[in-house]
Amino acid sequence: MSSEIHKSRLLVLSSHFTDLHSESSLMASEKEAALAAVPSDSPTIFDKIINKEIPSKVVYEDDKVLAFRDIAPQAPTHILIIPKSKDGLTGLSKAEERHCEILGHLLYIAKLVAKQEGLEDGFRIVINDGPQGCQSVYHIHVHLLGGRQMNWPPG
Ligand code: AMP
Repeated sequence: MSSEIHKSRLLVLSSHFTDLHSESSLMASEKEAALAAVPSDSPTIFDKIINKEIPSKVVYEDDKVLAFRDIAPQAPTHILIIPKSKDGLTGLSKAEERHCEILGHLLYIAKLVAKQEGLEDGFRIVINDGPQGCQSVYHIHVHLLGGRQMNWPPG
């Protein structure tokens, strides 16, 4: 094997391992954040985003929901859709019959935003719930992920 080919193979391999390393560190930090989060009905960072006390990249807003770009995107398009009024919905596991309308609205808006973002070839919707579900913010939110091929099963 010429030394040039050998060198370029080594480069490809080392960049692969660098990517793997950074991807797994990111996954670990997401998991750590979720395990460190204490499930509670207290205000969260999302209240600050709703009240515009901290900046966010809003992509859709109506009187019931807000959709904004995730600060740590896991795909080229990664948007969170949240209800403006939490009304006890810290997570999906806390849903009661009175929440059916807002739950349907969140999913419908996810579909509208997916179209707005040009995700014609498909997208993924995720709702993490509780420590084992890797939930880190206790204000229900729908993740809209797209712009790359998804894998199955999820991690
Ligand atoms: P989860 O782990 O399902 O509870 O998702 C919470 C999400 O909120 C994570 O994907 C975070 O990256 C995201 N996040 C946390 N703080 C912010 C913020 N200030 N702006 C946008 N996204 C955020």
